[in-house]
Amino acid sequence: MSRPTNLERVTIPGAWLRTAAGAGLVGPDGSVGATIFAEMSALAARTGAINLGQGFPDTDGPPEVLEAARQAIADGVNQYPPGRGMPVLREAIARHQQRFYGLAVDPDTDVLVTAGATEALAATLLALVEPGDEVLTFEPYYDSYAAIVALAGARLVTVPLEWPAFAPDPDRIRAAFSARTRLVLVNDPHNPTGSVLDRGTRELIVELATRHDALIVTDEVYEHLRFGTPHEPIATLPGAAERTITISSGGKTFSTTGWKIGWLHARADLVTAILSVKQFLTYVNGAPFQPAIAVGLDLPDAFYARIAADLGAGRDILIAGLRRAGLTVSVPEGSYFVVADAAPLGATDAAAFCRDLATTAGVVGIPVSAFTATPGAYAGLVRFAFCKRPDVLREAAGRLSSLSA
Ligand SMILES: *Cc1c(COP(=O)(O)O)cnc(C)c1O
Repeated sequence: MSRPTNLERVTIPGAWLRTAAGAGLVGPDGSVGATIFAEMSALAARTGAINLGQGFPDTDGPPEVLEAARQAIADGVNQYPPGRGMPVLREAIARHQQRFYGLAVDPDTDVLVTAGATEALAATLLALVEPGDEVLTFEPYYDSYAAIVALAGARLVTVPLEWPAFAPDPDRIRAAFSARTRLVLVNDPHNPTGSVLDRGTRELIVELATRHDALIVTDEVYEHLRFGTPHEPIATLPGAAERTITISSGGKTFSTTGWKIGWLHARADLVTAILSVKQFLTYVNGAPFQPAIAVGLDLPDAFYARIAADLGAGRDILIAGLRRAGLTVSVPEGSYFVVADAAPLGATDAAAFCRDLATTAGVVGIPVSAFTATPGAYAGLVRFAFCKRPDVLREAAGRLSSLSA
């Protein structure tokens, strides 16, 4: 049998192929399918539909932050920053955690700046998880989770978040823990569902993680995008800080998703272990953006109140349009996203519904099945992003309303 020698076909190295195929991320032949995200964006571009599929904002962040980056470039902050991140940013992260959450974090030993929350998650799992370990998370989940867990050679164990409240069942959380549970990965506020964990659930996670001696990794990139009560990191709960790696990022808070400035904080020895991996992933990134994000983290409370209020207003515009269109909506308490059920319109396959919606309504969303390995459970559900300008959301809502006309 001849080996394939077609140089036009891109193949994936063996180790990654085996793990990624095991996680269903690539085909058994190494083919990487066009993701539903790319497909829906292309569809929006082709049809002129409003793209509420991808979760990035269509306005710039605070001018002070943008100006600080321009100034840093002009000032020559253009070479490799220190491996742990620039002190000015690590100190701002520590001040931010103290100001909003009362968390005492040592900027010299407990903080690591990363290439977005994505690298923080990757370096943390690769550093702290062994092949054969179990990593517990809620499903649906952010799409990089399954890939990183596969790369670490671990097994993903999930607890479902079910329509419409997307609140996990405590008994299912208890049942998901085992002697092999190494780490619990908690995204709060949650993408794609927009749900937030109540205090009882957060306490249960800490209790079970302590009993099983598991670590807790939190993904809090939407920490400031809350529409009701303020965010409370799991690390603030009694007994949690010593086993929790808290991860966040400037991308969502400051509308700078392209800058990829993220961070984590944890016990000093955990940070050192994670740094040992991170130094061989990106080493460092984004020198002039680091002092700029530091400026953002020190912005007054009024800034933080405004971004949440503006986003909340966008949420309400879009929800009204979805309801007028005849969809049922799970009202999100945080994040950029709202999940709607298209079943009342007769949809049984959200991906097919999304393809139709581009032409019937001129709006594009993403089927929630893109965020799960058990698509059947989320058959009619669609995620729409509302991190867009009010006029764009009003136009989208108007177009959606015409569906029921
Ligand atoms: C956007 C997002 C990330 C990625 O953050 P970056 O800082 O851009 O790497 C991670 N987790 C969730 C849940 C997200 O929505």
